[in-house]
Amino acid sequence: MEKKEIKCSFCGRDKQDTNVLIAGITGHICDSCIAQAQNIISEELSQRSRTEIEGSLIMQRPSDIKRYLDDYVIGQEEAKKVLSVAVYNHYKRLLQKPINTTDDVEIEKSNIILVGETGTGKTLLARTIAKMLNVPFCIADATVLTEAGYVGEDVESILSRLLQSADYDVSKAERGIVFIDEIDKIGRKSDTPSITRDVSGEGVQQALLKLLEGSVVNVPPQGGRKHPEQKLIQVDTKNILFICGGAFDGIQKIIARRVKSTAVGYSASKESARINDEHLLQYVGPTDLRSYGLIPELIGRFPVLTYLDPLDKESLRRILTEPKNALVKQYVKLFEMDKVKLTLDKKVLDFIVERAIDYKLGARGLRSICEAIMTDAMYEMPGSSERPTELRITLSYAREKFDRSRMSQLKVA
Ligand code: ADP
Repeated sequence: MEKKEIKCSFCGRDKQDTNVLIAGITGHICDSCIAQAQNIISEELSQRSRTEIEGSLIMQRPSDIKRYLDDYVIGQEEAKKVLSVAVYNHYKRLLQKPINTTDDVEIEKSNIILVGETGTGKTLLARTIAKMLNVPFCIADATVLTEAGYVGEDVESILSRLLQSADYDVSKAERGIVFIDEIDKIGRKSDTPSITRDVSGEGVQQALLKLLEGSVVNVPPQGGRKHPEQKLIQVDTKNILFICGGAFDGIQKIIARRVKSTAVGYSASKESARINDEHLLQYVGPTDLRSYGLIPELIGRFPVLTYLDPLDKESLRRILTEPKNALVKQYVKLFEMDKVKLTLDKKVLDFIVERAIDYKLGARGLRSICEAIMTDAMYEMPGSSERPTELRITLSYAREKFDRSRMSQLKVA
């Protein structure tokens, strides 16, 4: 019987001219056709994702991004503007054709540092941007990181979290946003080398550099070192946007010294010193961060630096009611689900804001103060037999509940 010759059904090569020939139901494919097909697929997919990004770019110009942020973040105009432009440029960067196909101009990453007191909206800004772009987002605390091999978390654990938030879709995670909090707390411990290793300071900064500059990193999918058997996943950080936040306590003095202003320390009243402080933050520059022990290489990886204003009474008041998911709106909704119409007197809102300022917690304090006032009502309302259909929170009610709460027993600093 004549033996039928086996050939690749795509290029027609004889079996002996190929390395591998794979049989299908009605035909065969050789290794070089598989490789070629693979190239076609990746080209097609990258073209598609480029078109996707291009689509979103048209939708989201910096002014659109800013407008979106306005719905969630009160004030912080400068930070919102700078962030909108940085994110817009980041997307343009994702679109740039591979170098050498066009010109030699390569747009660098626009990693961002946000300087501002705690509770002024740094995390909120980063989170809101990620929500708008519909990209994976994760928050990492710089203070728990240590150099690999020491007690604490490896820097790679940040990417484990990003992978989790991307449901382990690596290509999605590779376009995500990472927020690293308290970056000001990982300064080099001293300028002179010490006998003990600086594993949570400079060691971490060095390890972070690798992630920031864009490289392929081996990431333990579950994070940590508890699962030594887990298979590492390779993540390319080239297109991940890093946003860092830090309070940089006392940075105003450093800025003042640099701009040779006599504003701080010489002012007669505390109030005018504060106004000067606020005013100074807008001049924050990369060199000011060096005083916190951040190494120049790390600072260099964050080309965008901006600041957040401390929140004054007026802003705190607006935060309570204006953002899309403002606290008051949330309580109204919670009561609505129990068919109760909740209203808060204006004076109650002022009371909440005043307490938040007393406790120096920024906007973060608003939530705990509201809880202190509302908990009893939320506890009793659903079960009560003659359930009212309306609940009005008056100043005296709010004050009584707050004064009885555990929070009020904390000493105001
Ligand atoms: P930070 O990261 O600066 O310490 P966050 O962004 O975590 O502060 O803010 C804590 C909470 O306070 C947020 O979840 C948000 O509810 C509220 N908040 C803070 N700043 C603002 C702001 N500018 N506009 C609206 N809400 C804010």
